[in-house]
Amino acid sequence: VSTVLTVKNLRLYFTTRKGVVKAVDNVSFDLKKGETLAIVGESGCGKSSLAKALIRLLPRNVHTYSGEILIDGNDVMKLSDEMFRRLIRWRKISMVFQGAQNSLNPVLKVGFQVAEPLMIHNNVSREDALAEAKKYLRLVGIHESFADRYPFELSGGMKQRAVIAMALITHPEIIILDEPTSALDVITQANIINLLKKIKNELGLSYIFITHDIAVTSELADRVAVMYAGEIVEISDADEFYYRPKHPYAEKLMASVPTLRTDKKLEFIPGAPPSLINPPQGCRFNPRCPYAFEKCLKESPPPYEIKSGNIVRCWLYHEGKR
Ligand code: SF4
Ligand code: MG
Repeated sequence: VSTVLTVKNLRLYFTTRKGVVKAVDNVSFDLKKGETLAIVGESGCGKSSLAKALIRLLPRNVHTYSGEILIDGNDVMKLSDEMFRRLIRWRKISMVFQGAQNSLNPVLKVGFQVAEPLMIHNNVSREDALAEAKKYLRLVGIHESFADRYPFELSGGMKQRAVIAMALITHPEIIILDEPTSALDVITQANIINLLKKIKNELGLSYIFITHDIAVTSELADRVAVMYAGEIVEISDADEFYYRPKHPYAEKLMASVPTLRTDKKLEFIPGAPPSLINPPQGCRFNPRCPYAFEKCLKESPPPYEIKSGNIVRCWLYHEGKR
């Protein structure tokens, strides 16, 4: 299987009055064609910042933005903002933003809004773009007559489908989904997940699925990356991960997920997520980790390769304690 995206040592730091926020700190991973990589972690761990770094939608207070992002083997970090906008964003990699269904413009018809990226990014005429929008509305399970409706006439689930159509219409290969179901009820969530699965197979897409809710990812994820304090601390094949996560933080995350099958006592993770301004020395999880030993307080663990595409950043593995 070919690799559609390779990220190496990506950093995105922000300048704030309190200091430099290291939201994305030395993040590396790859994404295979047709794969869904779930990126999970508590809110404030840098997940949404990672998404913005990938698609280069950056706020003004950027302190550091560096690393490599290879798409089809080309390092798109080397492109100017103008070239990135023209060649990459929406055309190679697009995004469904967190809460996007609420950001539809209330005074514009749904069909026009779905068509707009084509007019802007691919120079398609209004008429052709509107015809294409109807096609994509059908693809996401919305009758094309809704192209002439306004957002308030659509349910929450339909709005989310329209937003997905908007992300697809420019034929990107990679879609970033940032909490794509978090504002929806459970049934609608399941429907959207099924839709995402279907269109991924039909269109041969690759997904980066960002969420704080591990349970949501289990239907879709091929691999799971766990983010903690701006770093990726584990990447595992999904079936392995749900059965037995590797990193002590990932273990805690899994233990905090309610399941129907067991009435195990839910754990919660003691302590607070660390500051991204002054993260703890050594392993960033050490203040909350039940296994922390001396080395964890001093040195940051490098990635330990479990097998190809699967890593864990924890000294227990380096030292043969697991
Ligand atoms: Fe815990 Fe040490 Fe592993 Fe960090 S490196 S997760 S502190 S055992
Ligand atoms: Mg977020």
